[in-house]
Amino acid sequence: MTQENGGQDQGQGFGRGQGQEGAPPTFCDFCGRATTEVGPMVEGNALVSTGIRSMPSHVCGQCVTACDSIFSKHEQKHALDGELPTPRELVAHLDTYIIGQDRVKKTLAVAVVNHYKRLLASTRQIDDPALKDVEVAKSNVLLIGPTGCGKTALAQTLARRLKVPFAIGDATTLTEAGYVGEDVENLILKLVREAEFDVSLAERGIIYIDEIDKIGKTSQNVSITRDVSGEGVQQALLKLLEGTIANVPPQGGRKHPEQQYLQVDTSNILFICGGTFGGLEEIIGKRLGRKMIGFGHAASPDAEFERNELMVQVTPEDLERFGMIPELVGRLPVISSLNQLSVEDLARILTEPKDAILKQYQVLFHHDKAKLEFTDEAVREIARQAKARGTGARALRSILERMMLDIMFELPEHPEGHTYIINERVVRGEESPFTHAAA
Ligand code: ADP
Repeated sequence: MTQENGGQDQGQGFGRGQGQEGAPPTFCDFCGRATTEVGPMVEGNALVSTGIRSMPSHVCGQCVTACDSIFSKHEQKHALDGELPTPRELVAHLDTYIIGQDRVKKTLAVAVVNHYKRLLASTRQIDDPALKDVEVAKSNVLLIGPTGCGKTALAQTLARRLKVPFAIGDATTLTEAGYVGEDVENLILKLVREAEFDVSLAERGIIYIDEIDKIGKTSQNVSITRDVSGEGVQQALLKLLEGTIANVPPQGGRKHPEQQYLQVDTSNILFICGGTFGGLEEIIGKRLGRKMIGFGHAASPDAEFERNELMVQVTPEDLERFGMIPELVGRLPVISSLNQLSVEDLARILTEPKDAILKQYQVLFHHDKAKLEFTDEAVREIARQAKARGTGARALRSILERMMLDIMFELPEHPEGHTYIINERVVRGEESPFTHAAA
């Protein structure tokens, strides 16, 4: 295909005459529409015959976009047909985006690979007669961990690596049909939308359901008073997790009898559920007969270490004692707990991941032909401030947004080619970010 050059040169790039007053329109060889209708086109090397003479071929932007979507869908569809990545490869991929949480990464990688092996097994012949009819059970995953420690990010990064559709839902918004809120089927609809309404693609996607600990609490738990979801929601959710044919209204919203539904089989959808499960550590500690230290000082490193240690030992019975209904626990056989992020973890999150926030700011500065550097003390100070907020890595971005607002606003008015150094005094608001600028 030839280059695209804005359409001013004759016979090249965006096509002859495009953008020129009085020139005859060019037509897209894919959809037949004219430049006057669909805008500039890309000119190809191949010639097409009009019957009278041969002319260069053309394609419009809309057809290019449509083709791109077809190709990426094709790629998604066949992403799992070849070799599945190994758990080790998946962990290596997760390591480039997510800091720490090593145990969870390993558990998740194995669960996800097993899930897709199971899926492939249903399409492949097994020769061994003893294994032929063995059905591999589905392994949905439960991730337990505080806010902002990477539960959603882990699920999302895995889905991206596997090139399968991914949707996020929130258990607290689910309500029984007829009440204000979302039908459980809307979770599936989100996935179908992600798969651009290719149902077979959606049927092997991943759904992350947040706040699963808030659903269907039994009276055993005293710390939570809100019973957000009734029995009907729980039953509907249980069915989805286990595998059912869900009737999904393609337009979303409430169901009504005359509507046409999309039928989606959920048996090969992997559900990853997450929750903070506040207070669970006490239940585990009690079971283990451990005397707890320092839970009054939630942020003290000792208390945090002890909490992390206890959470690793969680059992399904602890979750039932916490208040989760046994049927739900039974459908989430893979359980893993995430650690609270330490100041060191938060500092690493700022700088190390492939799309680390500090790197993102450096890119923004690069656009203004300037350089941005952070001292180690500044990084630590940001991490310390974030830790104090108690919302995990979520606080990092808001601290930076606030801190960088003035400098981002003024930067284009400053001379190009400068390097701006952010130290801990700038982070604390004691110095202007422009203080340490050098040409
Ligand atoms: P939650 O555990 O509440 O689901 P998220 O995964 O949504 O938290 O994380 C919130 C933000 O913080 C995301 O932008 C995510 O990329 C980032 N983040 C959280 N934990 C980590 C981590 N361990 N490593 C890298 N980034 C993280």
